[in-house]
Amino acid sequence: MTSGRSLTAMVRTTPPRPVDITAHFPELAPLARTAVRLHPRAGNPTAAQSSIGGPLLWPAAEPWPVCPAHAGPSHLGITPENARLKRRLLERQARGGADVSAELRRIPYREEVAQDGPLPMLPVVQLYAADVPDLPRPDGADLLQVLWCPFTDHAEGVLPRTVLRWRVAAEVRDPLAAAPRPSVIGNDHYLPEPCDLHPEPIVEYPHRDELPGELWARIEAWEAREGMDYFDDLSITMGCKVAGHVPWSFIAPKRVVCAECGSPVRPLLTLYDAEWDNEVPSWRPIEESDAELPDAIDPASATWLYINRGYDLQLYTCAASWDHPHVQLMQ
Ligand SMILES: [Zn+2]
Ligand SMILES: [Zn+2]
Repeated sequence: MTSGRSLTAMVRTTPPRPVDITAHFPELAPLARTAVRLHPRAGNPTAAQSSIGGPLLWPAAEPWPVCPAHAGPSHLGITPENARLKRRLLERQARGGADVSAELRRIPYREEVAQDGPLPMLPVVQLYAADVPDLPRPDGADLLQVLWCPFTDHAEGVLPRTVLRWRVAAEVRDPLAAAPRPSVIGNDHYLPEPCDLHPEPIVEYPHRDELPGELWARIEAWEAREGMDYFDDLSITMGCKVAGHVPWSFIAPKRVVCAECGSPVRPLLTLYDAEWDNEVPSWRPIEESDAELPDAIDPASATWLYINRGYDLQLYTCAASWDHPHVQLMQ
């Protein structure tokens, strides 16, 4: 199943950083980590491909994950069909088509939709190690799958509930032909649009909260002198990525540990709505530097994901054991 796959020939290349930060602060060099930008772009991925929002390579004999917290018989939300219809209308309008506001108004945004039994989780990310050699993974595994329940009213917080699966792709000899699908989703921001990926390894440096205070003070003085922005342009990338450093905001790094054993955790996956924006344009791939597109068809936001009020959703795994539950955080 893993042979004969090919990513879209088009690559996405992050522009060089404005300066090599390690030339100014050599003590950062040993703290460098590789992150893999995923560069999701609208596509029609199959289960044999890495994707966001695409079908998963799933053994037919293995139960599909469901969310017991959303057990039916009905839920208030939007149907996936209506969520997609909304997007197609917005895209048509953005491309210069007619005003679609009347059609949009006819689509129920929140309605009570019947759901027979516990809600099947949605495929969110599928990564083949062949496409992402830097993917942190248990020995032998070569495929990561992430699913979630697209509601945000779970007991553990305001995020979709996520499930991870590690696999050996070649062991899936009898793949599921069609996955069960939820009849309703809590919020259309959590329905990922099918996207092909264009993985690109880059180098990241730690968030300032992970640096010694004395070093950060020197970097800050240098920023002011040189007109540089360490956080925005020189340390941590924007968008969906594997591994790398964590864009901490309102959570202190020391607080995040494995719930099972207290060991440190390591970043596995970060999902964010945009790969660049007008305020931080330096992460826009060279190949798309001329893209002046309306929001609804912006390649920076091809997944249509939007985490809460525009935060990152981060998944971490225990550094001591792959068998321990993953940690999910928003910041
Ligand atoms: Zn749920
Ligand atoms: Zn642990």
